[in-house]
Amino acid sequence: MRAMAVFPGRRELRMIDVPRPMRRNDHDVTVRMREVGICGTDREICAFDYGAPVPNSDRLVLGHEGLGEVVDVGPAVQTLSPGDLVALTVRRPCSSPNCVACRAGRQDFCVTGRFKERGIAGADGFMTEFVVEEERYLVRVPHALADVGVLVEPLTIVAKAAVELEAILRRYPWEPLGLRALVLGAGPIGLLAAMMFVARDVETFVYSLEPADGDRARLTRSFGGHYVSARDTPLEQLSSRIGAAHVVFEAVGTAKVAFGALPCLAPNGVFILSGVPAGDAPIEMNLDGIMRDIVLKNQVVFGTVNASRSAFEASVRQLEQFLGLFPDAIRGLITHRAKLDDAPDLLRRADGIKQVVTLAA
Ligand code: BGC
Repeated sequence: MRAMAVFPGRRELRMIDVPRPMRRNDHDVTVRMREVGICGTDREICAFDYGAPVPNSDRLVLGHEGLGEVVDVGPAVQTLSPGDLVALTVRRPCSSPNCVACRAGRQDFCVTGRFKERGIAGADGFMTEFVVEEERYLVRVPHALADVGVLVEPLTIVAKAAVELEAILRRYPWEPLGLRALVLGAGPIGLLAAMMFVARDVETFVYSLEPADGDRARLTRSFGGHYVSARDTPLEQLSSRIGAAHVVFEAVGTAKVAFGALPCLAPNGVFILSGVPAGDAPIEMNLDGIMRDIVLKNQVVFGTVNASRSAFEASVRQLEQFLGLFPDAIRGLITHRAKLDDAPDLLRRADGIKQVVTLAA
């Protein structure tokens, strides 16, 4: 069967032929891949700036935003049957007996860092025709979500952040009503985060590079968010333009923008970091001022990485809600679909919002 793979040592991205995987244990499930989304992480892997090949091999099959259909199941599989749609989780636990997180099935909180991520680090991904995976790493997606189910994985980032945010908001001795949120970045994660806030009746501003009359601005307004373009409002003027935000959700992956937006955070506010910066060049910033604000205003700054099964389950529920509330906007996030052969072109595209590789209908 065919698979799209990177060869970091040779700096190559190309189609390869691999044997179709077979079920090896009673809990295994064979999945025919339907769609695989492309994100910034894939682009970094293809630029050879991120990721790791499969151990003892020179290559990695790409793809971690996967939606597939169950074709057959092992005799011990209880929750899935042929025909079910599934989202495939990405991170696999480390093997350390001392990693409480991985042992509890919460590899998103892995303490050793020796986890693997399918399609990213040390384990083949989903940009291929068939995948065999254990039942516990697959999450059922209702058929009603078939055309947007490929968004389950990216939405886990937002779904997990929402769970953490709710826990943090419980520290207030009052009901947190009338919240305002600022989302940094109008990429897929930023727009999904904005939808999550709007769905919770939070007044939501999206701040991004694209123009105020562009597609992303229109999309933001279509589901009830406000859009502020960095072309009209420099970062330093953002807080005076929109006022204080009780929650800031960063989805740009750039420390300068993230920390530059801290003045927008209200007293007792919560700042969520979700981007993974590629660079590590020093940046000059007033860290004393930033620290003073965080302390004197009781602010919380936290980072979050998706991965747990619970985040995938929450993501499926969230997607169902979005589809009910703003079906056109959620569908509008997927701007390009192409066949596996054209994945390299999709990976090079700089336009649009979410690019998706279609493997089977
Ligand atoms: C994936 C996560 C992964 C992260 C870092 C993201 O694109 O969605 O599953 O943990 O990259 O590798």
